[in-house]
Amino acid sequence: MSKEEFEAWIEAHPSDREAFTGLHTVIRRDGERLVAIPYSQYYGEFLEEAAAKLRAASKTATTPSLKKFLASRAEAFLSDDYYQSDMDWMDLDGDLEVVIGPYETYEDELFAYKAAFEAFLCVVDPQDSANLAKYKGELPWLERNLPIPDEHKNLDRGSESPIRVADEVYTGGDTRAGVQTIAFNLPNDERVREAKGSKKVLLKNMMHAKYNAILLPIAERAIPGERFDDVSFDAYFNFVLFHELSHGLGPGRIMKDGRETEVRLELKDLYSALEEAKADVMGMWALYELADKGLVDAAIVQSLPWTVVPGLFRSARFGITEAHGLGVVCQFSYLMEKGALAETPDGRLTPVQEKWRGAVTDLCRDLTMLQAVADYDKAQAWVQKYGQVPPVMRRILDALADIPVDVDPVYSHVGS
Ligand SMILES: [Zn+2]
Repeated sequence: MSKEEFEAWIEAHPSDREAFTGLHTVIRRDGERLVAIPYSQYYGEFLEEAAAKLRAASKTATTPSLKKFLASRAEAFLSDDYYQSDMDWMDLDGDLEVVIGPYETYEDELFAYKAAFEAFLCVVDPQDSANLAKYKGELPWLERNLPIPDEHKNLDRGSESPIRVADEVYTGGDTRAGVQTIAFNLPNDERVREAKGSKKVLLKNMMHAKYNAILLPIAERAIPGERFDDVSFDAYFNFVLFHELSHGLGPGRIMKDGRETEVRLELKDLYSALEEAKADVMGMWALYELADKGLVDAAIVQSLPWTVVPGLFRSARFGITEAHGLGVVCQFSYLMEKGALAETPDGRLTPVQEKWRGAVTDLCRDLTMLQAVADYDKAQAWVQKYGQVPPVMRRILDALADIPVDVDPVYSHVGS
């Protein structure tokens, strides 16, 4: 089906809009008609079995919040109404982080409307999680201080945003199929985000694996040799942490032409790439702001550009048809245009200290405003302008061919 056919159907059948653009329906042909079939029906035989297993797990769970979530998620599988179980998921407070359900829309290359099922099973690190809780209280301050006009700030957003650091012991579904994630920020339902914020889970064992196997070898080739010692795991960990925190900042539900809508629905297929780029850049902006306030170590922001540049190469290698990959190509082009990234005589890339932070702030403003205005044509023009791989980036990417693109976890704790 083409985009045009989908849009023409909604134009002619406005009452179908909600079901057609919903996260949890498949679109099928019924003769001449298009119909939206709920996941609970279309995938009924699988979801009924999964729901039964979740109910059984709920009976054996000892933590009340986990018991409650597993039971309400089982119900959601059969009703397609994930709201209550997303709310319950936000309240999980035990040693286990369990994620199971339809979440991300990256696989829907037509409009990014449809969610794919995935699962994570993680063991929480309570000490690290407690250390990070201090940043939670800074989210409203960061939102108020975003480098955009006040009218576009999302000041009513729920500020209950737990952060957990955990080790992943098993994953399945969508997340297992593509790039292995090092952090996630869920749920995506803007109603839950408005009410309770969103929860960030950082997967520390995955981050260590990728840092050692991929990021350090890239840094050895991408940045000047004398700055290699400035690359640090702490900077990498905080960059990822603030990337995730930034998904919870900025425009979400917005007013456009007098109607209430979401940035995600307006920017369609461009949304994921722009949101990922926004999260990278706003995360860096936030680290600098909090370092000014004395809440983030100076050593971390000092290492930040040297760690971020090889990190951007790491993401760009997933290709520009993937949201994170396209997002970082845009960042590279923009930072080069502003003189914040420069090529060294021996063909490496170096952040330009005196221009870096200013360019990061400008890019943060531009990306956030693209979302606040949510004009698809404007966003498309921006992605076309910055979404081309610069020659120096292409050359370095080509020279990284023998470094692994990703890690492939082996789960020794969980049987099949
Ligand atoms: Zn992200």
